[in-house]
Amino acid sequence: MLSTTARPWIEATLPVVLEHGEAITRHFYQRMLGQHPELKNLFNLSNQSQGEQAQALARAVYAYAAHMDQPQLIAPVLERIAHKHVSLGITPAQYTIVGRHLLASIGEVLGAAITVDIASAWDEVYWLMASELIAREARLYQERHWAVGGAWPELEVCDLHASSEDTLSLTLRAPDGRPLPDFIPGQYLSVALPLPELGLSQIRQYSLSNRPGEGVWRITVKRVRGEASKEGEPAGRPDGLVSTRLHEQIRVGDCLRVGLTAGDFQLRPGLQPVVMISAGVGITPMVSMLQHIAHSQPERPLCFAYAATSPAHYPLREEVESTLARLPHMRYQLWLEQGSQRCPGAVPGRMALDGPHDLGPWPADADFYLCGPLAFMQAQRRTLLSQGIERSRIHYEVFGPDLFGDLP
Ligand code: FAD
Repeated sequence: MLSTTARPWIEATLPVVLEHGEAITRHFYQRMLGQHPELKNLFNLSNQSQGEQAQALARAVYAYAAHMDQPQLIAPVLERIAHKHVSLGITPAQYTIVGRHLLASIGEVLGAAITVDIASAWDEVYWLMASELIAREARLYQERHWAVGGAWPELEVCDLHASSEDTLSLTLRAPDGRPLPDFIPGQYLSVALPLPELGLSQIRQYSLSNRPGEGVWRITVKRVRGEASKEGEPAGRPDGLVSTRLHEQIRVGDCLRVGLTAGDFQLRPGLQPVVMISAGVGITPMVSMLQHIAHSQPERPLCFAYAATSPAHYPLREEVESTLARLPHMRYQLWLEQGSQRCPGAVPGRMALDGPHDLGPWPADADFYLCGPLAFMQAQRRTLLSQGIERSRIHYEVFGPDLFGDLP
């Protein structure tokens, strides 16, 4: 708990820290990575160049400080961060480095406004949050029988195939043939790829797209293509660093360095109805959930709503539709921006859950799972909330730094 000495300082400076939060965390990344270039392997350089990582960290620290007295609000935020850290293999020692640079950055950005008392109050907040995270992460490592700081295994790519025009599915197995540990449908893993031309490696997360119990892990990766600069814009967007290499360079028999499976986006146990709502490559965790339900709980009621730009951009379509067809209590609706006339039953255009569709009224007591582009998820969640769905029943996964939550 925050000390009574620190509390008034935090309350007084929260607005100013929020206002300058992004500037502080931008400064922090430059400062820390300048002094610890080895950490560049751990942080997503593309997110940083666009400022997204800074926003995510700033929001997390601010949210923690602002809602420390409401653990029910802050717990899910910490849980999500802890899972991400475990997938990255973060160690307690790294919190010391981050803390030192973050607190120095607050002082350097806000200047003379930061007195010794204010600095020590923020130091206290940081370490309260860090201690909670370190404890949660220790539990997650322990559940996975993982020695903190241990080397990631190299897994062999045993199958590789295009699963749509712009996605590739890679199946990974242990080189010694032992089954890989199980995971919970909805979870992801981290892949680390060396980038020799940059003299570092980069880690990206990919949701598992197969079901647990198969002894192998499958991921489905969309190729992120760059864009030339448009008129009036200063710069274009480069091709995705990791996805491009996975598409262009990896072959069956190659090995990939892979972290632990993690993620708080998890199919809830039990037999209550499930509504899966996804778009684009956001379908990947849904395929894992769907396969698990078809294998272990075929009687479980399920609604599957999916939106793609065109039939050619629907990853794992044959597998999804043939699996859905086997389920007795299933409802399915596809939205297509282009080519809907070639797919009987598809609604043309973007997904609109308040428009016409074949999903019927939402089943009572259903859990809702969302995954797709940020704007897509925000729009669907707004509709669900306006239809009276309880906030706590809507679960989501963000394929990037978590800028989605209005929580807290
Ligand atoms: P990056 O190099 O990270 O680039 C990302 C974007 O940033 C690109 O559009 C690029 O053009 C732009 N960019 C980079 N540098 C700049 C710059 N200087 N200026 C302007 N723009 C820039 N992806 C999947 O395909 N399948 C999945 O199942 C999946 N699951 C995920 C699960 C989770 C929990 C998370 C967090 C992410 C998931 N992702 C998934 C996304 C994945 O982790 C990667 O973010 C994605 O593959 C892009 O990585 P990249 O290295 O190819 O692109």
